[in-house]
Amino acid sequence: TLSDRLTSVLQNLRGKGKLSDADIDASAREIRIALLEADVALPVVREFIKHVKERAKGSEVSQALNPAQQVIKIVNEELIAILGGETRRLNLAKNPPSVIMLAGLQGSGKTTLAGKLALWLKKQGHAPLLVACDLQRPNAVTQLQVVGERAGVTTFAPEPGNGVGDPVDVARRSIEEARRAQHDVVIVDTAGRLGVDEELMRQAADIRDAVTPDETLFVVDAMIGQDAVTTAEAFRDGVGFSGVVLTKLDGDARGGAALSVRHVTGEPILFASNGEKLEDFDVFHPDRMASRILGMGDMLTLIEQAEQAFDQEKAEQAAAKLGTGELTLEDFLEQMQAVRRMGPIGNLLGMLPGAGQMKDQLAQVDDAHLDRLQAIIRGMTPAERANPKMINASRRQRIARGSGVTVRDVNDLVNRFFEARKMMQQMAGRFGFGPGTSATK
Ligand code: GDP
Ligand code: MG
Repeated sequence: TLSDRLTSVLQNLRGKGKLSDADIDASAREIRIALLEADVALPVVREFIKHVKERAKGSEVSQALNPAQQVIKIVNEELIAILGGETRRLNLAKNPPSVIMLAGLQGSGKTTLAGKLALWLKKQGHAPLLVACDLQRPNAVTQLQVVGERAGVTTFAPEPGNGVGDPVDVARRSIEEARRAQHDVVIVDTAGRLGVDEELMRQAADIRDAVTPDETLFVVDAMIGQDAVTTAEAFRDGVGFSGVVLTKLDGDARGGAALSVRHVTGEPILFASNGEKLEDFDVFHPDRMASRILGMGDMLTLIEQAEQAFDQEKAEQAAAKLGTGELTLEDFLEQMQAVRRMGPIGNLLGMLPGAGQMKDQLAQVDDAHLDRLQAIIRGMTPAERANPKMINASRRQRIARGSGVTVRDVNDLVNRFFEARKMMQQMAGRFGFGPGTSATK
């Protein structure tokens, strides 16, 4: 998967201070292979890689993230963009009934989707009418009626016994019926074929002309991979559609179809179907799909938390002080608190730049410990905090008494602070954060 491939490349990026062009190229190569394996169409892969490379090389260096995390962040953001960015809502008509027409190959999941949509709309206070315009297969009408009953909505179907009905006529009459019975949304289920053919397209186009849908949804099985693109193009040219629904996402589809269809047709993905039950259905969220494709949901959450917790400005101030040895106890406390805000400390050590070196120190920090540190530092005067060197034995006793800890705790803190300051000065020297230089950009 993409995440497996990225993980191995990114491992090499760990510990590096900056992304080199060679690192970026190596990551891009793996991303390319992973996307192709996930059945993303080649032109889409090319363009995607181009964007990621450009952004990575333009290197928006973030202090909160290490290079590996930066690559993941860029890839994730580009995935979201290519999946459409924002969630697109269903367009309903100002003057009901709104008409939603479903089109797609046989077996793509149209009839199932009709029931899911109906239930979903009903829960939002709409009164949908299901319309059976698949008169091709013998059981298609009954299948829709069963689904309708389960969703608790009415199904409009041709009267039995008149031979094969005319789907265009049924569609037209269903709109009259919706007006009469005050249904505000009409969901038109249509026939599909196993492959794209002219008759299928013509019939779908005729139904479209008869009902002028507010939304025509192209329903596509996410498991068909590369074929999704050619099928989507055929439906776009033959019928036209305003949105896409991906079905069978509960299978092991990696989402390649999602990336390709959205990109190739330019039409948004509105819904995702992920199971046979009527409830297995949701509005499509590009960000969730992206993290599924990337397979790094947890990592993405951590990156977000790290960015939120890590106050850029304070980090710059602290970095500027490093070289001059001006780091105060308050800066020290702030950094510890930043680490704590990020959540379970053990998972997050790699996230602060340079934190690798502070690992041993930070590893001993738990919440109780931080509370104690905070209490001790609160018990100091501002002068002591700014200049810890002045904290002599009698001051230590006073501070210990005032903050309810032992003198040993105070000694520990002060010693650790001096150690940390020394370490940071060394690091600052190595990374070139001198006085007057900024660590960003
Ligand atoms: P249609 O020919 O386009 O109307 O497709 P159907 O709605 O009849 O669905 C074809 C088959 O796929 C049926 O067996 C459905 O139960 C199944 N199906 C539809 N959507 C999903 C889905 O999201 N997940 C899974 N696992 N099966 C689905
Ligand atoms: Mg059907």
